[in-house]
Amino acid sequence: MRSFITLLLLLLGFVTQLAAHGPGKEGAFGGKRVLFIGIDGCRADAMAAAMERGMAPQIKMLSEDKNGLLTRQLYAGGELGTPTYQPTVSGPGWTSLLTGVWVNKHGVKDNRFIGGRLQSYSHFMRHIKEVKPKAFCASFADWPPIHDFIADGSRVNGQEFLNVKFTCVPDAKRHFIDNPEKDIEVRDEALKTLHTQNPDAMFVYFGQVDEFGHGATDSRASFSPDSTLYLNSISHVDSHVGELIRAMHLRPKFAEENWLVFITTDHGGRGNSHGGDSEAERSIWLVAHGKELSREKLLNEPTPQTALVPMIYKHLGITPKPEWNPEAPPPVAEPIKADAKKS
Ligand SMILES: [Zn+2]
Repeated sequence: MRSFITLLLLLLGFVTQLAAHGPGKEGAFGGKRVLFIGIDGCRADAMAAAMERGMAPQIKMLSEDKNGLLTRQLYAGGELGTPTYQPTVSGPGWTSLLTGVWVNKHGVKDNRFIGGRLQSYSHFMRHIKEVKPKAFCASFADWPPIHDFIADGSRVNGQEFLNVKFTCVPDAKRHFIDNPEKDIEVRDEALKTLHTQNPDAMFVYFGQVDEFGHGATDSRASFSPDSTLYLNSISHVDSHVGELIRAMHLRPKFAEENWLVFITTDHGGRGNSHGGDSEAERSIWLVAHGKELSREKLLNEPTPQTALVPMIYKHLGITPKPEWNPEAPPPVAEPIKADAKKS
């Protein structure tokens, strides 16, 4: 019995050691990896204010690194006056961020997801698995539709493509008032994966900033750079982001790995709501960190939120198949319809 236990301990030690050495360049994409962090409803000027006031030091540090950048030229909501126009709400927004196309293709008009065409315009991780079946893809979210509709809707014949799918379900009846604590659970699960697995692609979603903007968690808060409570929620998420970045750096062979990090949001907001086409709702931001970013382009040109998925494919060396349609179609000039406006 004792020798069996000794053998077991030896084996355990061996396995732990293997894990501790990390894969470095080994992996489906030769060590190229993606960490995509989503912060729901984080208005661009509020993120800038949080950075200026020392309330988002982790994200600021990443953006100011030599391989990092912050652009406020990212936009949500499609092209005004064209079939790509979509409301600045989470359903269409996250679908665009995770599929690389607007509503004219993905079909998601609102948070009900009715008419979604995720089978044809799928979650980028499904395509990663299509190209490299051994790739490790993980997703963590406390807004369940990210998984229930966008990920699961992209499955072919129900076949799972996520190695880790962690859904933390907040209390929808109380308008997600418990999002701050659910974000901590999301963070901890994502940290576990960064420590013990070798993810090729990870998506980590935090929900509390949007709920503060809506005044759900605290009625005094709103989507505004002047709302200290709103900025404070950004600060909380910033600390979670810092933990994730630290865990990434602590990977045993991090120096050999080539990570692309994206941190962004799905839409901004005004007062206690969003959905319309004002600057405060459409204008969003992107913090990107990676060795091969198209810096000039990202810093100087307006970039649609559909552009992130093609950049992920490029980083991983994936040539998109024509049927994936990852690029946003060119805008078709049409007069802006009066009814497209919504306050
Ligand atoms: Zn919202």
